[in-house]
Amino acid sequence: MIDIERCPHCGTRETRFAALGTVKLTKETTRKWKCEILLRSDLSKKWDSVSGIRLKVQCRCSSGPKKKLTCQYPLEERILIECDVCVIGGGPGGLLAATTLAMRGRKVVVVNEGPLMGYGIEGAFKSKSEFEITRHYLQSRFRPEVFGNSSPPAWRSVRAGIERSAQGLNVSLEDRLRRFGVILIGGHATFENRNTVLINDESVRAAQVIIATGTLPRLFPGIDVDGHHVVTSDEIMRIDSLPESLVVLGGGVIGCEFAGMFAALGSRVKLIDTQHRILASEDQDISDFLSKAMVRNGVEVMSSCRFKSLKLENGMVHTRLTNNVTLESEVILLAVGRTPCTQELNLESVGIDVDDRGYVPTNQHMQTNIPNIYAVGDVGLRNTPVDMALVHVAQAEGRCSAYHILGEDFHQSMDHIPYIIFTLPMVAGAGLAESVASEKYGNVRVGKYPFVRNHRAHAMGTPFGFVKLIVGPDGDDRMLGIRAIGRDVDSLISAASIMIEQQLPYTYLLNSIMPHPSLMECLQGAANIISGDALAFEEYEEFPTEGYFPS
Ligand SMILES: Cc1cc2nc3c(=O)[nH]c(=O)nc-3n(C[C@H](O)[C@H](O)[C@H](O)COP(=O)(O)OP(=O)(O)OC[C@H]3O[C@@H](n4cnc5c(N)ncnc54)[C@H](O)[C@@H]3O)c2cc1C
Repeated sequence: MIDIERCPHCGTRETRFAALGTVKLTKETTRKWKCEILLRSDLSKKWDSVSGIRLKVQCRCSSGPKKKLTCQYPLEERILIECDVCVIGGGPGGLLAATTLAMRGRKVVVVNEGPLMGYGIEGAFKSKSEFEITRHYLQSRFRPEVFGNSSPPAWRSVRAGIERSAQGLNVSLEDRLRRFGVILIGGHATFENRNTVLINDESVRAAQVIIATGTLPRLFPGIDVDGHHVVTSDEIMRIDSLPESLVVLGGGVIGCEFAGMFAALGSRVKLIDTQHRILASEDQDISDFLSKAMVRNGVEVMSSCRFKSLKLENGMVHTRLTNNVTLESEVILLAVGRTPCTQELNLESVGIDVDDRGYVPTNQHMQTNIPNIYAVGDVGLRNTPVDMALVHVAQAEGRCSAYHILGEDFHQSMDHIPYIIFTLPMVAGAGLAESVASEKYGNVRVGKYPFVRNHRAHAMGTPFGFVKLIVGPDGDDRMLGIRAIGRDVDSLISAASIMIEQQLPYTYLLNSIMPHPSLMECLQGAANIISGDALAFEEYEEFPTEGYFPS
């Protein structure tokens, strides 16, 4: 195994990393081999033609000494890399664990298949970039007298721009990892035993292993995803043109986000869900409000409907429902949930427990039933008030596992997790939903403040939606949760989330001074309603119409 000390000039372990990368060999003369080292794994097949090779490696800073070394990999054997911790999966969860450990001197190998940062970039970043462009477009569409008439964005250039930004993020991320001294190996990992992971021609032996392999879109058996007409959230973020018509199967977070966005961009959208309401994980008032807003924005919401079959004919998808209705659309988006990437990890032979859906249960330190093996991020079985796949939850779990490996006494509270759903309008929350809090604590107190009373919301052209504070029953002033729906409600939840985590009483909000005009005043308004200092207001459902934006 090649293991070169840090570059004496810049201190990075670039050389060692490089030596573990792909080695491309070109025979210059019969006796001399030219080596080009690409910073990736997948050892070149050309190893077959040599029994040992002289590599000249140099740190990228180009100031350190060039170092010649001969590696004598017996060709029939795997290359063994020994390290303290091997992380399988380079998404947000795995990478946060890796960098936390590497910064504290642990030798860390990350094995990742696909683009770095996983769905943190492929899902969250790309879809939110599309969301922001859609919001700009909506402004011009609904205020033509101010912004001028605008046609829908050219989707091909939108996509190309987003891809460029995503690639830029990936390059700087790879660079940062290298500076941290993390060894990155590209490829698919499987367990050989509790301390050894296999990847192509390499094997990594580690004292601890972190599984951070995330999830993939769930598919219907027998339905082929062709990437053009039948797509999941992966493929819909790669299509170059806006579909004229779109059927979205699944009224959860991903389904609602894409349905709202494509309707705003001009597609005819039908949203189908088996439940009697969309976004069923939210309180009834939030999902009712969102449903009305979506209908107003042009989405046909079909709840309590079940998918039966689909057929592709003359470039159109015919989706049949169990009530014998058939829908015709250019594209169908399957947004019916996600499934954990655990099938090909060989977990059974190592004795790692999984539940019946394939998720890996863990304790509060993110340890699986095998103490030196951890599971973080979406692949783990979550036991949090908000059962959602989120980048920041994956990262919090990654950090938690790293601290436990480091032997530090660290507890990550998961009771306050803030989240944003990028529908039009946005939904945001932290802590317990009203329905969950009532089940747990009985007669919880709730204050709902409508944006129609808030000057900033009027100034933004979107005075609809509300913020809802949930606090304990009489005698218990702790803030338990917050839920909000409306434009830019993401700005409200971070402060509330800290209050919930710190178990602060909602009365702190009564005596604080909020800036004006701001949506934060609504938080104080909701607290005033609970304390009886303001009148409850129930007319917030009415949408103002003329001249207002839909989000
Ligand atoms: C369309 C969409 C929009 C989203 N929007 C948001 C949002 O706005 N905000 C938010 O917080 N979250 C959002 N999410 C969720 C978020 O992306 C995930 O919760 C987060 O990325 C999970 O991180 P992770 O580290 O658990 O796994 P992932 O991000 O899934 O990364 C896992 C990595 O492991 C690799 N891998 C899998 N198996 C192996 C193997 N055997 N060997 C080697 N590598 C392997 C995968 O290729 C991948 O690179 C969105 C998700 C989607 C799909």
